[in-house]
Amino acid sequence: MSLNIAIIGAGPAGYYTAEAAQKQWGADVRIDIIDRLPTPYGLIRAGVAPDHQSIKAVTKRYEATNLGAGTRFVGNVMVGRDVSVAELLDIYDAVVLSVGAPHDKPIGIPGDDLPGVIGSAAFVGWYNGHPDFAGLQVPLSHHGAAIIGNGNVAIDCARILAKTVAELEVSDIAQHAVDALRGSAIRDIHIVGRRGPHQASFTTKEAGELGHLERAHPVVRPGDLPPIEEDAALEPGHRKMVTHLRSFADLPRGEKPVTINFEFFRRPVAVEGNGKAERLIVETTRLENGQAVGTGELHAIPCGLVIACIGYRTASIDGVPYDTAKGRFPGDDAGRIFRGLYASGWARRGPSGTIGTNRPDGFSVVEAMVADGLAAKGGDAPAALDGLLAGRGVRSTSFADWQGLDAAEIARARPGAPREKIVSVTEMLGLIG
Ligand code: NAP
Repeated sequence: MSLNIAIIGAGPAGYYTAEAAQKQWGADVRIDIIDRLPTPYGLIRAGVAPDHQSIKAVTKRYEATNLGAGTRFVGNVMVGRDVSVAELLDIYDAVVLSVGAPHDKPIGIPGDDLPGVIGSAAFVGWYNGHPDFAGLQVPLSHHGAAIIGNGNVAIDCARILAKTVAELEVSDIAQHAVDALRGSAIRDIHIVGRRGPHQASFTTKEAGELGHLERAHPVVRPGDLPPIEEDAALEPGHRKMVTHLRSFADLPRGEKPVTINFEFFRRPVAVEGNGKAERLIVETTRLENGQAVGTGELHAIPCGLVIACIGYRTASIDGVPYDTAKGRFPGDDAGRIFRGLYASGWARRGPSGTIGTNRPDGFSVVEAMVADGLAAKGGDAPAALDGLLAGRGVRSTSFADWQGLDAAEIARARPGAPREKIVSVTEMLGLIG
């Protein structure tokens, strides 16, 4: 009898979990990868920057997993709304929550609800054509934009705002974003970090890229850099990243019209404006035991757009324990919430690491299932799910449906671009027919 596993979320964490289960049980496992969107690949499609196509090549691997025997993609099904986790636990021998962390962590400062303040999940979703954010209004008419956070998401957002339309058009950035960015007045981009260059979590390639943009120029205040001897204590990769920041401090001003200003040692304290964001108020900080402490010295950064890139939270699901403080599911290090229910990827360990970090997560969840001695309870789980969904009038989509959408997106791509994403679920379902 085959083991039946439901994996919720068709992003990297879900596919690596499926891959691990296939390796463990071969022909003796049936896997349904369920996603709320009609399209697979989660963060690869909606999170990874459109101008980082090489990272997206990993979807070939996920495709091979999905085409493996006994493995299905069940799209357009929202767990918690169309089917409950309790029902899935009844039908399947194991359920794995690989739902990522799609919600922005709130900034929690006065004025953060003003129009013009958005989270990176929304902004990244907008330029990547995520159906939830296709209609987002991004104010681009002010010369300033402030990006809060010193991680790679902040760099992605800055780079998208800084690039020329010609640089963007050859990526799979959504057409609505290209159209809006074509008229952008943004010239001064500020990346605001509450700590310093040594504490920033940018990676080397992402930081270095900012030095090679057609019309934008990175600026680091030399006084924000620690004495160069202190770089010796850094891990080699991180030291290289800091070397890029040092080189930005030495760059001549040049002719480029857009600046990307690293505002280190600045803590956001308020967003102000008359009915909309007009400036971000920041307080200068100093480090005490590695933590940012305010000095009381305030500055205003003029901006009509504030993007908070300060981390994400997993969405809670009815009937599943949830750690509100950490913004993710509780459980042990292997990903076990309780015997039969598991979590992998960001839903288990929070929003950190690279795409590849999810791979060992998938394997550890499968090891936990083996250790738990899961046994097949019998029955045709895929048929049971289909019956339940049909009874509720839920129209699910298959991997073959996705292959059709994939071909349609590739066919409608701008010249030089890999695809033009379909950003409306209604349109997707119409095309599937
Ligand atoms: P991140 O690397 O954890 O950075 C979050 C930043 O937000 C940190 O600088 C943090 O500062 C700051 N922050 C948190 N709360 C704050 C607050 N209340 N006020 C001001 N600043 C605050 O997270 P991320 O940029 O969202 O990226 C998530 C993961 O995806 C990371 O592992 C990242 O490397 C990965 N990613 C990779 C790529 C790529 O490889 N190309 C692209 C995008 C994302 P403190 O350090 O002081 O807490």
